[in-house]
Amino acid sequence: MSIQIYNTMTKRKEEFVPITPGEVKMYVCGPTVYNLIHIGNARPMIVFDTVRRYFEYRGYKVNYVSNFTDVDDKIIKKAVEEGVDAATISERYIKECRQDMASLNVREATTHPQATQEIDGMIRMISDLIEKGYAYVAADGTVYYRTRKFKDYGKLSHKNLDDLQSGFRALQVSGEEQKEDPLDFVLWKPKKEGEPYWESPWCQGRPGWHIECSVMSKHYLGDSIDIHAGGEDLVFPHHENEIAQSEACNGVPFARYWMHNAFLNIDNHKMSKSAGNFFTVRDILEQYDPQVLRCFMLSVHYRSPLNFSRDLVEAAGNAYGRIVTCAENLAFLLKNAAEKNQALSEEEKAVLEQAGEFRTQFETAMDDDFNTANALSAIFELVTFINSHADENSPAALLEGLKKELEELTGVLGLVTERKDDTSADETAYIEAKIEERRAAKKAKDFALADAIRAELLEKGIVLEDTREGTKWHKA
Ligand code: AMP
Ligand code: ZN
Repeated sequence: MSIQIYNTMTKRKEEFVPITPGEVKMYVCGPTVYNLIHIGNARPMIVFDTVRRYFEYRGYKVNYVSNFTDVDDKIIKKAVEEGVDAATISERYIKECRQDMASLNVREATTHPQATQEIDGMIRMISDLIEKGYAYVAADGTVYYRTRKFKDYGKLSHKNLDDLQSGFRALQVSGEEQKEDPLDFVLWKPKKEGEPYWESPWCQGRPGWHIECSVMSKHYLGDSIDIHAGGEDLVFPHHENEIAQSEACNGVPFARYWMHNAFLNIDNHKMSKSAGNFFTVRDILEQYDPQVLRCFMLSVHYRSPLNFSRDLVEAAGNAYGRIVTCAENLAFLLKNAAEKNQALSEEEKAVLEQAGEFRTQFETAMDDDFNTANALSAIFELVTFINSHADENSPAALLEGLKKELEELTGVLGLVTERKDDTSADETAYIEAKIEERRAAKKAKDFALADAIRAELLEKGIVLEDTREGTKWHKA
């Protein structure tokens, strides 16, 4: 089966056919770094990291580029407030963002370019656009893109130029009189007092936002790429403008598939810094395991809105807990089964084969425009299946086979099956000694002591569970 991707450009699902066989070139618009990222920003990070992992699982080599926008009005404003330069702000929040990404198991991109390090490329692309007649320089040195000259403008967002024109006329702001047309947008703007700036043929100044991504995508991935992605708020004008810039400059189609995640909402409104209705990733990770947040994000298809609520995160926590408990159970059984080096019976082989059917179900879901909600359902069914087929009589080879199924599928979603363990070696040794003491007490029929040991551990947040295979423990 091939992978089907919903393409915003054509408004339908299409079979994924890469430009270069076996390779995927993808660019994901990254955050503007002036604050800690919120969990809305984390949605595209988790979603497209999962898309990348699935392509890799399918045998593709993925060149994954995601930028940091490190020059912007909001960064400059924050720098002024703190009395430091803009680079201090952006470097600080790039570092924080990377830390959050690592917590959420979002892998490092192949390249994480920063706008301020690509200014030469931007000047070259803008010069080229001027030369080709797609851009012009106003009296104060601002460079504008001549939007109407690009015949396909609006093809991604399915907007009509004349409707846009009337909207813009109503919105026209002062200082924009020097545009030839209200639809034109900025490629380069003159510096203002106290702002960071770079030399250019037009004026000392800085780039507009859209030109960044056209240039960085060209630099690291080439003129035509397979996938360009980001949140749905980027369709217009950001991605529409990127297409206009890149295609006018390079003369070839920019991206073949345009993927956009829907919003993470709160009370049915988009979570955003400017609206103030946000939780940072840091806030949430103080209360929940990062894996639970990841599971929550993947519990609905990426093109469906996701409303943040603690109940839903807790439901994701319970669901994720089932996966972890199943994996722990397998590990526990395996510890005791290690010596039983039995060959698999026909019946046991059939169990492994049946377990493989959940993988097929998982792949079918992911092939269908990365339907992680259905892929997670396949994993939960696999968990139920494992729970009813793995026990203390299972041979190691069967348990290993089941473990491999579970770990590979969860791994594609970037979920790890080990509970975050902050227990020190000393603490573990202490708990295990107590469990042994309790076992001895029970054997000697000293049930009062056995109960006292259980209560003592519970007081310390350690829960004991007696099973047929022995006593297990976990944190409350
Ligand atoms: P920004 O820093 O606002 O440019 O956003 C960085 C990325 O996060 C972009 O791909 C945005 O589309 C995405 N994004 C921002 N807010 C949300 C949200 N509430 N839900 C989903 N994606 C979002
Ligand atoms: Zn971008």
